Amino acid sequence: MGEDRPLTPWWLEEAPQIEPEPALDGDLEVDVAVVGGGYTGLWAALALRELEPSARVAVLEGGLCGEGPSGRNGGFLHGYWSSLTRARRAFGDGGALAVAQAGSAIVPGVRDFVKRRGVDVWLREAPMLEVSAAPAQDEALSAAVASARELGVEEEAVPVGRDELAERCSSPRFRRGVLYRDAATVQPGRLVRALRAATLAEGVVLHERTPLVRLRRGSPNVVETPQGRVRAGKFHQNLRTLPVTIVGHRRIDSDAVFELEPGVLHHWAEKSVQLVCGLNFVHKKLLASGS
Ligand SMILES: Cc1cc2nc3c(=O)[nH]c(=O)nc-3n(C[C@H](O)[C@H](O)[C@H](O)COP(=O)(O)OP(=O)(O)OC[C@H]3O[C@@H](n4cnc5c(N)ncnc54)[C@H](O)[C@@H]3O)c2cc1C
Repeated sequence: MGEDRPLTPWWLEEAPQIEPEPALDGDLEVDVAVVGGGYTGLWAALALRELEPSARVAVLEGGLCGEGPSGRNGGFLHGYWSSLTRARRAFGDGGALAVAQAGSAIVPGVRDFVKRRGVDVWLREAPMLEVSAAPAQDEALSAAVASARELGVEEEAVPVGRDELAERCSSPRFRRGVLYRDAATVQPGRLVRALRAATLAEGVVLHERTPLVRLRRGSPNVVETPQGRVRAGKFHQNLRTLPVTIVGHRRIDSDAVFELEPGVLHHWAEKSVQLVCGLNFVHKKLLASGS
């Protein structure tokens, strides 16, 4: 781990290589400016073009798309069934169920994206097994199973006893487990590169090495970058760059719409951001700070 070791994660080394898109040099006028080219920004740009093909959409990425966590994460796709107990505390039973059910659209959403775009992101759909390896961990697993049962969705968190667990993975440390059917894995670098390619194919203007240095809100909003400005009717700031928390949710037709506002980052915020990534893509409706 010497200092001269390249910082590029293996995921991005393995993924199809890219030529950086040019940095913004001059002024640009668009309908929507998206700041940040990770999953959130790229999904958002794609969703906007799908909703409104005539919309002029630009993504401004400070480095190269996917260089942040989107290109260097664990690659696990899983919604909120394993977090149901915490979700009930945060949102109440109805809210927790709505969050978890909406999250279940993430794996089919990625599956659909891969199929439609003809890309290989190493999508592997298989249940996720959570295990306890010490007595202190048993309770959390029991609570996950109980929450699912109490909300009438016991099939989302199925208990696995010691013998069955040993058949799946024979470790003397594993005491019991819970099986979540809503799960998959991807090669995260491939996914973010595929998203980047899709946004370009859909006519999104992408400027890399173009950090937002100042935002002047108004009508239009003006995004200032080192060598140019973007005037935009709407502005979508990549949520991960802001502390964001879900403050409420409601249903519009069959879609869950989550309302966000900047808040203190707490243990739910990280999950919330991921949830919004998925929802943004799957439900194509997002009421977010700054948008
Ligand atoms: C080690 C690790 C493992 C993880 N494992 C998983 C997992 O297995 N499953 C899972 O679902 N999630 C996982 N996550 C979380 C997941 O990676 C993130 O939730 C997700 O990548 C967030 O995407 P994003 O687009 O919101 O943010 P990012 O990927 O952070 O993208 C933000 C982008 O904005 C750009 N940017 C920032 N500031 C500016 C600016 N001023 N101007 C222009 N551009 C700017 C950055 O360069 C970056 O490219 C993991 C995260 C980490 C760190």
